[in-house]
Amino acid sequence: MVDKQPIIILPEDAKRIVGRDAQRNNILAARIVAETIKTTLGPKGMDKMLVDSLGDITVTNDGVTILEEMEIEHPAAKMMVEIAKTQEDEVGDGTTTAVMLAGKLLENAEKLLDQKIHPTVIIKGFLLAAEKAQEILNELAIDIDVNDKEMLKKIAMTAMTGKGAESAKEKLADVIVEAITSIAEGNNVDITNIKIEKKKGQGIEDTELIKGIVLDKEKLSADMPSRVENAKIALIDAALEIKSPETDAKINITSPEQLQQFLDEEERMLREMVEKIKQSGANVVFCQKGIDDIAQYYLAKAGIYACRRISKSDMEKLARATGGKIVSNLNELSQEQLGEAEVVEEVKYGEEAMTYVRGCKNPKALTILIRGGTEHVIDEVERAVKDGLGDVAAAIKNGKVVPGAGAVEIELARRLREFAQGLSGREQLAAEEFANALEYIPATLAENAGLDPIDIITELKSRHDKGETNAGINVFNGKIEDSIEAGVVEPLKIKSQAIASASEVAMMILRIDDVIAASGKSSSSGSEGSSEPELD
Ligand code: ADP
Ligand code: MG
Repeated sequence: MVDKQPIIILPEDAKRIVGRDAQRNNILAARIVAETIKTTLGPKGMDKMLVDSLGDITVTNDGVTILEEMEIEHPAAKMMVEIAKTQEDEVGDGTTTAVMLAGKLLENAEKLLDQKIHPTVIIKGFLLAAEKAQEILNELAIDIDVNDKEMLKKIAMTAMTGKGAESAKEKLADVIVEAITSIAEGNNVDITNIKIEKKKGQGIEDTELIKGIVLDKEKLSADMPSRVENAKIALIDAALEIKSPETDAKINITSPEQLQQFLDEEERMLREMVEKIKQSGANVVFCQKGIDDIAQYYLAKAGIYACRRISKSDMEKLARATGGKIVSNLNELSQEQLGEAEVVEEVKYGEEAMTYVRGCKNPKALTILIRGGTEHVIDEVERAVKDGLGDVAAAIKNGKVVPGAGAVEIELARRLREFAQGLSGREQLAAEEFANALEYIPATLAENAGLDPIDIITELKSRHDKGETNAGINVFNGKIEDSIEAGVVEPLKIKSQAIASASEVAMMILRIDDVIAASGKSSSSGSEGSSEPELD
């Protein structure tokens, strides 16, 4: 005889949700994430104010920034945040769109689940629709001339509409297009060549493009030259200091002579360091670590311009721009390692100053210096500029764009419905729901602009049925118009990436029917069962 003992395979405090409950729970979490950022979509989208645990404030309209700041915990919700991050890494824009699509796909899938359609069938339908969508997108895409600056400017402006940068959109778009076209080599655009620097003061429209690298650093001492022409630049990743904060040695000094000797020795070593720099022929030093006062004195005496504590990423940009090598051992510093620039100079900004490195060996090194009244404004402008840079770069890379303002989504949905007709019964329903999800984007653009989404979608659909493939919403007057003519243009890559990642994640979440969560850190109130020693 066998006892009917319950068999326990999980720790007592593990949480488990199975079947329909698991699905419902995940879908709900994903929908909440999408719902949260919905109001920020489009030119008339609202902003969100986020306050982190330290009280720092971020005011933004940017999907990925909002989701990252929210410190989301729920596992399915976290997967939604991942979509935004992928979108940000791949294109730099379209994060809200991608997340909203995934949320709507799941919401629509739930309707089908309620009709007792098996998740596997829904997934199959979604997969077919997603593949077809990519195909249609490619058909709808319009080839652009990558040298057509007017077109690139429209792309940049579309990326920035509705962001904090609205007031200076034209100027910023010019800066972005100028920056990207000067670094582009054919279809190749390496955006890392563009450094973004921020300085509080003046207005957004004073944002400028500088040929060269700008560092938010002053020269270290007033005795150093303010301008060095024909600069030979040493990039040093070593402290020009003696004391290392980690050593805790004691030195016994018993007489004033010994003290003097000790100080002299220290000074001698610092002087030697500077001597090595001088020997190499450098007249500018950019140091990633600290520079001692005495070393500063000798550097100034040698007529060398120096800045310290330069960030790693700036050091790397400087190395690329000036053709120099970052040296971590002063003994290895020689003429070959030095970078070159026509001028290194200090430029005053009110009380503060910045260092400009102009006429770099690599003319592709650029800096966009963002100006603005407050830090929050500047940060939001920076995000808008990054969206613009990402979009223009994406458009140049594959030379294809699509009409924005909801036009491409409506056309995609229309053609997907035609495609769905050819599928078997239940997969057809799923593919149709996929098409419906796409219409959520124009519907939200309308809603956020205070227009009636149902009226707008109906009108849009009938115009597309008549063959107006570029018909989109003019969110400012509620009329339907040709988006390309209106200058609302987006790179194809935004949409293809958004649809790809949104459908992948939606399908992944649909496949889950069992959530097993270890007790982990969330069960903070130590249950009796846990007898783990507390380590202090
Ligand atoms: P995302 O994070 O997805 O990029 P945005 O808030 O930037 O979200 O909004 C992008 C949407 O706004 C796109 O669908 C785009 O076509 C639309 N859009 C941008 N500019 C305009 C405009 N001037 N008129 C109508 N729609 C616009
Ligand atoms: Mg955008």
